[in-house]
Amino acid sequence: MAQKKKTYTTGFGVPVDNDQNSKTAGSSGPILIQDVHLLEKLGHFDRERIPERVVHAKGAGAHGYFEVTADVTKYTKAKFLSEVGKRTEVFARFSTVGGEKGSADAERDPRGFALKFYTEEGNYDMTGNNTPVFFIRDPLKFPDFIHTQKRNPGTNLKDADMFWDFLSLTPESVHQVTVLFSDRGTPRTYRHMNGYSSHTYKWYNTKGNYFWVQYHFKTEQGIQNLTLAESTKMKGEDPDHATRDLFQAIDRKEFPSWRLEMQIMTPEQAADYRFDPFDITKVWFHADVPPITIGRMVLDRNPENYFAEVEQAAFSPANFVPGIAASPDKMLQGRLFSYHDTHIHRLGPNYHLLPINRPKAALNYYQRDGFMNFSDNGGDSPNYYPNSFGGPEPDPDVGEPPFEVSGQAARHPYAHPNDDFFQAGELYRRVMTDEDRDHLIGNITLHLGNAQKRIQLRQAAVFYKADPEYGSRVAEGLKLDTKEVKRLAEMSQEDRAKATQGT
Ligand code: NDP
Repeated sequence: MAQKKKTYTTGFGVPVDNDQNSKTAGSSGPILIQDVHLLEKLGHFDRERIPERVVHAKGAGAHGYFEVTADVTKYTKAKFLSEVGKRTEVFARFSTVGGEKGSADAERDPRGFALKFYTEEGNYDMTGNNTPVFFIRDPLKFPDFIHTQKRNPGTNLKDADMFWDFLSLTPESVHQVTVLFSDRGTPRTYRHMNGYSSHTYKWYNTKGNYFWVQYHFKTEQGIQNLTLAESTKMKGEDPDHATRDLFQAIDRKEFPSWRLEMQIMTPEQAADYRFDPFDITKVWFHADVPPITIGRMVLDRNPENYFAEVEQAAFSPANFVPGIAASPDKMLQGRLFSYHDTHIHRLGPNYHLLPINRPKAALNYYQRDGFMNFSDNGGDSPNYYPNSFGGPEPDPDVGEPPFEVSGQAARHPYAHPNDDFFQAGELYRRVMTDEDRDHLIGNITLHLGNAQKRIQLRQAAVFYKADPEYGSRVAEGLKLDTKEVKRLAEMSQEDRAKATQGT
């Protein structure tokens, strides 16, 4: 913070004579409205806060680079991925999801893992999480889901009934709930967690062939988590512990790094795959689609100003570069709209011109004006297309190859039915250790124990459907009747909802 001595000025560059005493009529008289320095200072202060993000409000960020370590040109023509050894500047922001801007870093929550690659073809963003799956697979459910993770509209308190009512009525959530209530729901720091695209994306090459891909940024610090007792203690002792850890580690030159592993499927493999490859509540099993290592990300520079670089950083899954495109994953399709829309709300229509968001690539476009346009606004160049004054021209070579779509326009559910439980069960049975399972059951019963009994029963039945032992252990932990849980688990979703309806 040390600075050379400079004369203090107003926001308009005018030297300030005194910043300790407002101008008054006499030493004890009222303040004069002609104290314009005071008026400007208060007026700006009154407007310091911008809307916090509706999700991912609390976060920390850092600058760094991404380096390509394997040839992927047969899969994508993205220039930043075109050569082994090629480096691209990145900015990363990690966050919790449900809490407000001042909430504790150690809350049980997924962690956002958002990356901005400043490529020569414009900005490419990956807005991932530290979990490979998500709670819901249709964006129409997203506002409702988030309401249940936030505060009760009446009491303004976090509410276990809302939380578990929605989840137990939305069984597709059970895979993500299982990850969240494992100790991975409370990562030790932002450095000790993986980042997953969770969504499937499309890569396409110079020949117009395309592939479906999923990104896995694997922490090179190793996975480390907080136990329930540790996270509870941390929330009180240092609510900003992960923000502090990231900043201090980089300050000490212990630069955190992640290895990028990709899962890549051909369209033919995808057509036959046993799970819907565009359903974000599912993973692609590693044995089916082995990940290949293609790059490495290192974070080696702290932001100098939190608001300018982290609070104003605006990521969007719609920021693609040639060679990368969307998949039909419905959650992704919803996010293609929502992120840009949110940034316009939070930061204004020219948020892309803010230094942290501004591409390093040239901006040659016909957008003009709008609030807070602090660029040259295109000078006197044409502001319409087509024009015959040498304005920028589209390049058909950069476009996504055409792809087939068919079917009836309707509100379709995902077509792969009955499969909301298997992968959660596999995580419980096959991946978790005994200790992981003990912690999972303990973490769930503590939280779910605050909900009404009928909701506890319904959620325990959902866990039972993932794995009978899993559901039975939750039931025992909550002192529920395991036979009743089993009976509910055997019902259809509709009948289970009816049988556990409240008044
Ligand atoms: P594997 O059996 O090959 O590997 C298990 C994976 O689970 C590893 O990537 C491991 O991460 C991760 N993992 C370990 N503990 C947890 C936890 N508490 N929460 C979330 N992930 C955890 O995986 P499969 O592909 O055969 O899938 C089996 C199950 O593993 C899936 O149903 C899914 O729940 C989970 N999983 C699968 C992933 C995938 O993309 N296939 C990714 C992550 C989880 P690490 O390598 O960091 O130890």
